[in-house]
Amino acid sequence: MLELREVTKKYKDKIALQNISLKFDSGIYGLLGPNGAGKSTLMNIITQNIKPSEGTVFWNDVDTQVLGERFRSIIGYAPQQQGLYNAFSGQRFLSYMAALKGISKKEVKEEIKRVLSYVNMQEAASRAIDTYSGGMKQRILIAQAMLGNPKLIVLDEPTAGLDPKERVRVRELIQALSENKVIIVSTHVVSDIEQIAKEILLIRSGQLIDRDTVENLCFKYHGCKDLEEVYMCVFGEEEKNVTFDVL
Ligand code: ADP
Ligand code: MG
Repeated sequence: MLELREVTKKYKDKIALQNISLKFDSGIYGLLGPNGAGKSTLMNIITQNIKPSEGTVFWNDVDTQVLGERFRSIIGYAPQQQGLYNAFSGQRFLSYMAALKGISKKEVKEEIKRVLSYVNMQEAASRAIDTYSGGMKQRILIAQAMLGNPKLIVLDEPTAGLDPKERVRVRELIQALSENKVIIVSTHVVSDIEQIAKEILLIRSGQLIDRDTVENLCFKYHGCKDLEEVYMCVFGEEEKNVTFDVL
């Protein structure tokens, strides 16, 4: 359904993504890699928020640049940053996003009701977003990504800043969404996706290191017992370096 062919992204002389080719059919895909690996760049290219320097993204074998608005209308995207519309109520934020997505006035009320109940935010919908907890903000962002029942859902670090209980809730929500859809979830936290992803894509320094099921990855990387060990095996040194930089 979704295919990236030889996608490269350069920011001036910095290569953020290097020659990525990937195919996705329906199911949940976990995009896993440390900060700066290129996860958000990849997601921004898929969702047409930025253009690749080279390469093409296809939807059902058609170039998505050619599809344009027809492609964007089947995407639900929850970007990494939040807090853009803090003064809005949840309800107003969803109305605004529904209008941007071109959902008709006739349908909008029902559609907002549907996504609110999905993320269990009916009661908080009339309150301003800046009164929400981190988990509630993420849930309203996910609700927004669900508007119009998109076939392709892209969630950039949907569990960032959440406490363990909220993480579980968001994870369950993503899993419940996944039927007949392509869902791509980025994270640098293994436990978010270990149980729900059909496949894991390991990404480092703009390159796709591997893609496989959790089980196969564990087997390939020296018989690791779980994805956490695979992560440490593949990215361990970098994580240490990151800590070092900070210190
Ligand atoms: P991730 O989401 O995995 O943390 P990003 O896609 O945000 O990684 O970033 C990948 C690389 O591209 C990083 O080295 C980052 O500094 C760089 N980068 C991202 N956005 C820009 C930009 N607008 N200008 C220059 N460099 C950027
Ligand atoms: Mg990112």
